[in-house]
Amino acid sequence: MSNEAERRVLVVHLPGGDGLCIGCRAWWSRLTPYPCWQVDWAISRQARSLTAAVLGGRA
Ligand SMILES: [Zn+2]
Repeated sequence: MSNEAERRVLVVHLPGGDGLCIGCRAWWSRLTPYPCWQVDWAISRQARSLTAAVLGGRA
């Protein structure tokens, strides 16, 4: 499994000056406070894969 999906989410979903997620507004015209659930998902996925790497690849 690659990290491409997570990276793509984190590239697009950025905090706007008004505290809302730029990516959610651009993709869905949805006003979502940042961090949105997609960012939470991507960060938790990255943290888990990092933990797995530290533990020697055990998932
Ligand atoms: Zn978002």
